[in-house]
Amino acid sequence: MSINNTYSFFSGVERSFDKAAKFTRFSNGILEQIKACNSILRVKFPVRIGDQVEVIEAYRVQHSHHKLPCKGGIRFSMEVNQDEVMALAALMTYKCAIVNVPFGGGKGGIKIDTSKYNVGDLERITRRYTSELCKKNFIGPGIDVPAPDYGTSGREMSWIVDTYSSLNPNDVNAMACVTGKPISQGGVRGRVEATGLGVFFGIREACSIKEDMKEIGLSVGIKGKKIIVQGLGNVGYHAAKFCQKAGAIIVGLIEYNGAIYKESGIDVDQAQAYRLQNGSLLDFPGATNIAQVEEGLEQECDILIPAALESVIHEGNAGRIQAKIIGEAANGPLTPEADAILNEKGTMVIPDMYLNAGGVTVSYFEWLKNLSHVRYGRLEKRFSENRYAEIMNSVEELTNKKMSEMERKMILKGPDEIDLVHSGLEDTMMGAYQEIREVWKTTKGVEDLRTAAFICAINKIGVAYEELGIFP
Ligand code: GLU
Repeated sequence: MSINNTYSFFSGVERSFDKAAKFTRFSNGILEQIKACNSILRVKFPVRIGDQVEVIEAYRVQHSHHKLPCKGGIRFSMEVNQDEVMALAALMTYKCAIVNVPFGGGKGGIKIDTSKYNVGDLERITRRYTSELCKKNFIGPGIDVPAPDYGTSGREMSWIVDTYSSLNPNDVNAMACVTGKPISQGGVRGRVEATGLGVFFGIREACSIKEDMKEIGLSVGIKGKKIIVQGLGNVGYHAAKFCQKAGAIIVGLIEYNGAIYKESGIDVDQAQAYRLQNGSLLDFPGATNIAQVEEGLEQECDILIPAALESVIHEGNAGRIQAKIIGEAANGPLTPEADAILNEKGTMVIPDMYLNAGGVTVSYFEWLKNLSHVRYGRLEKRFSENRYAEIMNSVEELTNKKMSEMERKMILKGPDEIDLVHSGLEDTMMGAYQEIREVWKTTKGVEDLRTAAFICAINKIGVAYEELGIFP
């Protein structure tokens, strides 16, 4: 998806890293160790497709072993190549550090066009890939734990956990070998929407700071903000939906085969249903078609949320982006050149490694749940309805405040798993934003949130490496 095929996504990540590393106290050796990809697996394996045999190319990269397991999704796409998987694995390392999730970064990819295969083919490809990971020691609850990414979902995660369990029958923690599983397969409620919800929490937090909004000429709060979202996959759809629910106006939606715009706002659910039925967003009732899909990014809005693939904003179009805030829901949607142009223009870029960390944050909850073999949330009521009503009344009297629906529910039957997950995610995203912003505002010479986020990440990983020492 880059503007030219010589662009290296991994060196783009390294460039942003180097820019930030200058503001940290670590030696070159430690910095080099943080930056390097620790282990790279490239496999080619045969899979029977119909009456043919196809050779499939796939990767798993463990970027950092400073904390184990390594963690990160697996994508199915024709764009998959070693450089891309390395870059995405590196971003996972920094992402986990930023939200204090104790994992090293990893990423996997299978170079396939999913539309060319039926479900049975996809299952065989996924299972064979998992067996390759098992053989090479690139999967395991304490080694490396995949998750969904572009082109994969709970379905593939089920196949992975089943294959891993079959090949490792004595691993009592086998359930924790992969996250993003369906609820019935050991998943956690709230994982599906986690990345999109995290994107919303992050943007909401950024928009809540008066002095920062004033600087870019926007009012405080997400309500009424005009938003364009690129990509209506799991991340983009949920980000759009949560922003809309909070009162933002979704003025534009962009998919690879069509983009639409409507100043008064597009109903996200209706547009998604329309797209799924018609195969494209084009001609969605009441909205205007945008002739060239790429021009969707350049339409008038306050916030642009690229939630598809990397490098969609580059030096060729960065100057034409009108948004005051770019929320990077995708990994690496801006090339370093675009980043420089937008910083120069004063656009606030909320970086990927923070903004889309909601997925891995909730994956961490799922992994903990699997390892501890527990169920989250209290299920049974202890007292009668009347006794609960009395308790709630006295709490309201004492605090002189009416309780929200959620607070009532929690008192009634203890927090549900979904409440725990959502509030844990909200806390994480709000806390991490404040941490990054603090560095941004207080470090002389740091002009953007990406550099600040990298500084936060490098500081945490650097300390871990120093404390670990060097073997032997
Ligand atoms: N693929 C997601 C990401 O890029 C989630 C990773 C995970 O949950 O491990 O952050």
